[in-house]
Amino acid sequence: MLRERVAEDIFVFTSDLYLQVTASAIFTPEGVVVIDTLPFPQETREMLRFIRRYSTSPIRYVILTHHHADHSYGTYLLEGETIAHERCRRILEKDGDRILEADQDLHPELLEVQVRLPETVFERGTLSLHIGRKTITLMHTPGHTSDGVSVYVKEDKVLFAGDLVMPVPYIVGGDRHVMRESLHKLSELAMDNVVQGHGDVLLRGEIPEAIETSLQYLDAIEQQVERRVAKGMPKNTLRRLSIESCHKSRIPLNGLAEELHQANLAHLYDLLSMQKETGVELRA
Ligand SMILES: [Zn+2]
Repeated sequence: MLRERVAEDIFVFTSDLYLQVTASAIFTPEGVVVIDTLPFPQETREMLRFIRRYSTSPIRYVILTHHHADHSYGTYLLEGETIAHERCRRILEKDGDRILEADQDLHPELLEVQVRLPETVFERGTLSLHIGRKTITLMHTPGHTSDGVSVYVKEDKVLFAGDLVMPVPYIVGGDRHVMRESLHKLSELAMDNVVQGHGDVLLRGEIPEAIETSLQYLDAIEQQVERRVAKGMPKNTLRRLSIESCHKSRIPLNGLAEELHQANLAHLYDLLSMQKETGVELRA
């Protein structure tokens, strides 16, 4: 697990075990705020050991950027109040145990994990926590998932974007139109650092380009897949559509960016094909 300091009292922990997923801790004299957890208990415990070493203050809040397993499976190990979007709680309540059991079959190290439902939720607008002279604002920024939340620390100009910002936008299970809206919303904030849901922390000079190329990427895949569907070209022709031709790079996430890209293309192809057949626009 990689540990990185992005502001005087803000640390980011990046998983070695799963797709460079990130979790973070904000230290204040009135308590610690954790944003997301790591998928495997051993790494969440490692993060927890660091938090205990660094501060004697308790963990006051655990914020979940969305319900996905790779971000939420360590919640049961942490004390403090869990905060998320209302849909996150609804999804975990409905599907959490079923998804966890399927994951436990594949990964025995997850057998001890328990689904923990967020205790505090918000539905519309923003929710701000005022703790230890910091203003920590949660904003509903869906797109990757319907329950996506971004977290902004005003005093440090640090944004925790969850999976809305990744080295390659991932729309499977999400909504590309909504993702565009959320990316536009984020771009209005003053940001010195963006903690992505996966991959390296973005520095001030890198942020506008990362957001701009994410928007360009969404436009490019849509245009390219639409053209192929309109011409009746088979799905396997998508393989030739490289991530670079869509404004992103295959290098991040140890090469898995290309896999995510291909999954986006296949998903969009199915969606647009169905739309062509039925004449009904499907959101995703
Ligand atoms: Zn993720």
